[in-house]
Amino acid sequence: MLTTSRGIALLLAFAISGLTVLSLSLLNEISPTLLMVVGGLTFSFSILLLSVALEFLIFKEIETLQKNNTFRREFIADISHELKTPIFAAQGYVHTLLDGAIEDKNVRYKFLKRAAKSLKTLDKLVQDLLTLNQMESGVVKFHFEDFDLKDVILELIDQLEHKADKRKVIIRFYFDKGKTYRTSADKDKISQAIQNLIANAIKYNHHGGEVVINLKARKKTLAVEIKDNGKGIPQEDLNRIFERFYRVEKSRSREKGGTGLGLAIVKHILEGHKSKISVTSALGKGSIFSFTLPLIKPSKSGKGNWATAQ
Ligand code: ADP
Repeated sequence: MLTTSRGIALLLAFAISGLTVLSLSLLNEISPTLLMVVGGLTFSFSILLLSVALEFLIFKEIETLQKNNTFRREFIADISHELKTPIFAAQGYVHTLLDGAIEDKNVRYKFLKRAAKSLKTLDKLVQDLLTLNQMESGVVKFHFEDFDLKDVILELIDQLEHKADKRKVIIRFYFDKGKTYRTSADKDKISQAIQNLIANAIKYNHHGGEVVINLKARKKTLAVEIKDNGKGIPQEDLNRIFERFYRVEKSRSREKGGTGLGLAIVKHILEGHKSKISVTSALGKGSIFSFTLPLIKPSKSGKGNWATAQ
């Protein structure tokens, strides 16, 4: 590659100096000696500048390739490690059963249930990986539609109530009943993002904790805030929790069936809406995750007619 770049620099330098000499030779008063000097100087300067510029570009290219390679290697290592954990666990239970534990009725049920839980984690992991991969490669298309965000949140609370009840966590949802909260977004994806955030607020809360969801309509945007009074996230981890597979406490996340991909997916979904997820947290007090979406105001001309607020 370097030989080619030198060749290109040489050719370009020839062309530049040739053109300069040719242009100058059209002026009658310039002597051949001066032309030769100018030609030589232009050639030297051009070759110097071009070599430096081309080598800089090539160096950059090599650096990017090396970075991509490292990234790919690390990603494959991470995935293998993540897949291994539930596979080993399920394998362990099944082998223990085959080695004789199957004769004991109580153990049989317990181990089968644990093996099923590991397989469920594996399934979730593969699904999350596919979603993330499709989003990162740009395969996933966002289908924007107008809908009321309040209804989506109410539906999600309905679905997650059972999970919260099991941990005696109360979910509160604050919004103004007299207002509409219409937005233009990909309904399924936004629903998935909010579901991940509420599920985390339940999962990383303490027994008997509280999850508060605030939905506010501002001038041009809708603000969503999901607040918990759980254990919080250390300051040094706050920037990293949106990276895939990053967990503050690995064992706690895995024990709760976490894949470490939920927040990375949330980040991508919001980026697809030109929005951003923000987080603030205080150790021992809880965390607040928030984001905004555009507000669609009803147009003045007619009922049920909506226009984007600009
Ligand atoms: P996981 O599947 O592990 O929950 P996520 O990507 O959803 O993966 O979250 C990444 C990590 O961020 C979690 O493992 C957890 O340590 C931390 N986290 C996320 N949400 C909260 C929260 N509401 N309270 C405390 N920690 C949280």
